[in-house]
Amino acid sequence: MDLYEYQARELFEEHGIVVPRAEVADSPRQAREIARRLGGRAVVKAQVKTGGRGKAGGVRLAADPAAAEITARQILGTDIKGHRVRKVMVAEPVDVEREFYVSYVLDRAAGGFLAIASAEGGTEIEETAALRPQAVARVPVDPARGVTAAKAAEITDAAGLPARTTDVLVRLWRVLTREDALLVEVNPLVTTTDGRILALDGKITLDDNARFRRTRRGAEPEEHQDPLEAAAAARGLAYVRLDGEVGVIGNGAGLVMSTLDAVAGSGARPADFLDIGGGASARVMADGLSVILSDPAVKSVLVNVFGGITACDTVAEGIVAALDGVRLTKPLIVRLDGNNAAQGRAILAARAHPLVEQAATMDGAARRAAELARTA
Ligand code: GDP
Ligand code: MN
Repeated sequence: MDLYEYQARELFEEHGIVVPRAEVADSPRQAREIARRLGGRAVVKAQVKTGGRGKAGGVRLAADPAAAEITARQILGTDIKGHRVRKVMVAEPVDVEREFYVSYVLDRAAGGFLAIASAEGGTEIEETAALRPQAVARVPVDPARGVTAAKAAEITDAAGLPARTTDVLVRLWRVLTREDALLVEVNPLVTTTDGRILALDGKITLDDNARFRRTRRGAEPEEHQDPLEAAAAARGLAYVRLDGEVGVIGNGAGLVMSTLDAVAGSGARPADFLDIGGGASARVMADGLSVILSDPAVKSVLVNVFGGITACDTVAEGIVAALDGVRLTKPLIVRLDGNNAAQGRAILAARAHPLVEQAATMDGAARRAAELARTA
């Protein structure tokens, strides 16, 4: 889960990284009040989970509280790179001397973390890395050793950062490890004309697998960009939306993965990944089908089930019951194998729904689903 800048700012502050004074507003009036509290001048910043807000007009300086109100009115409700602005952060402006870039990011291939740092901060790091790769230092970090003062010095030396920024690097590592983050980024980290070092902008991606450990932020509402994923999550389904045309339902992540491959091997693309898990009840099947059928991109649906503890006849009954509750509008290819497969197939055959077809093998089912998606 990505955090908003104002949430990242709070975590930085908790771990002793200096940040500008700031508060969040969801109305222009409130922005004015905050600017007044901050002393008049303020930076008004759109809170959206995307970078490059500055270039998109989402970061603006206001000379006084009245200007902050006007600026907030201009920014709130607008769209930045597909993200609606619902909140602004109103921050104390600082006099920037130099801008730097620092981050730690999980490096899955290396089985560790990577420190990325640059003395040319402010702009997006991908841009700097593309234009001037020598300006971006990459230093592997062994997670077992972490970032000590010595390691931080190695990073600042490699990037040409001032020696006095090492303390921020050590603290930023603490943010990463103590908050179970996969990415922490400060861009820009600045030195000011009055000699301070501040994190002016931050990005944090938390590891969702550690959600259970995060009791403090446990009450936070789950955020889903995709409305279908949100609908599926509300029904407790393990659903991931992809961008193809064949809807895929299976029991067990491994089988669903193989089914995605089989669909791709048949020249079609999966529209989603839906794992109904062990208990393929009528309820779960009906919920899964209704989520998948409501995706206009789906042209055919492939149900691939290997009966185990939940036998195929139970799954078939689930599908039949689901067909009574859900209006099937697209062809449904079902492949049942494993425990009680024959009984399951007989139940589906007896239902004789005109849009339901059965296939004997996974590959056969995938080929047929791809074919029906093409001709739909
Ligand atoms: P981003 O464009 O989404 O990365 O948003 P940032 O928060 O990084 O803001 C973009 C740029 O605005 C920064 O790189 C700074 O150059 C500038 N900026 C933001 N806040 C201040 C401030 O208080 N003072 C000054 N001088 N510049 C600021
Ligand atoms: Mn930034």
